[in-house]
Amino acid sequence: MSALAKFNRLRAIASLLYPPACTICSASVAAGEYLCAECDAKITRIVPPFCAKCSEPFAGAISSAFTCANCAHRTLHFDAAVAAYRSRGIVRRVMLDFKYGRQIHLRHPVARWLLAALDDERLRSRRFNIIIPVPLHPARERQRGFNQAALERIRYTTTQTAFDRAERMENLHGAFRLRKNADVRDLHVLLIDDVLTTGSTLSECARVLKEAGARSVHAATAARA
Ligand SMILES: [Zn+2]
Ligand SMILES: [Zn+2]
Repeated sequence: MSALAKFNRLRAIASLLYPPACTICSASVAAGEYLCAECDAKITRIVPPFCAKCSEPFAGAISSAFTCANCAHRTLHFDAAVAAYRSRGIVRRVMLDFKYGRQIHLRHPVARWLLAALDDERLRSRRFNIIIPVPLHPARERQRGFNQAALERIRYTTTQTAFDRAERMENLHGAFRLRKNADVRDLHVLLIDDVLTTGSTLSECARVLKEAGARSVHAATAARA
C-alpha cells in the first residue's frame, strides 16, 4: 500500500472515531470541512468599495475625492495589502484558536481565506519571485516550531493592540531585518501574514525589503481587522 493510501485509510478510520464536526458549533460536516454551512454563511467577505492600498472597506459609494482614513497621513511601504475576509466573529475565533490554541488542523480554513486574498485581482495576475512570511519573534518561533526565511524579527515588540497608529509605527521601527545572506535585490516580493490590523507590521517589513532593493512588495493576509 502506498504511503498516501495508508494515510487515507488512517484518516477514514479516524473519522469513524472522531466524526468531522464544525469547529464552531459542532454540527456534523462532510469530511475535509471545518465549518458547517450555517457558520460559513456568517463570515464577512470584504467586498467593494474598499481601499486599493490597504483593503479597508467603506460604507457606501466612493466619491472621486475619497481618502482612506487608515492610509491618510502616513506612508505605507507596501504596494498593496490584500485580505478577502474580515477578522471578526467566526473568522477571528478560528484565527485565534489556530494561532494560540494549537489547533493546527485549522490551518485548512485559514489557508482557504488566504487563497481568496491571493485570488484578488490586485495579486492574481502578478508574478512574484519570492514569498516571505512575516517573521515571528524568535521565542514564539521556537514555540510554534517552524523557522522563517529571508526576514527576521530582531526586537521583541509588545503586543500592538494597546497602541494607536502612530505608536504602532514607532514600536515596530527596527523590529525586522533581512537575514544574513538573504538577497531580495530586484525581486517582486509577496509578504504573507495572518491578520492585517492597521498595516503597520506589513509596512515595516516592506520598508526593510525595499531598502534592501526589492522592486515591489505586495502582501496577502488571511483576514483583516
Ligand atoms: Zn457550525
Ligand atoms: Zn487604505
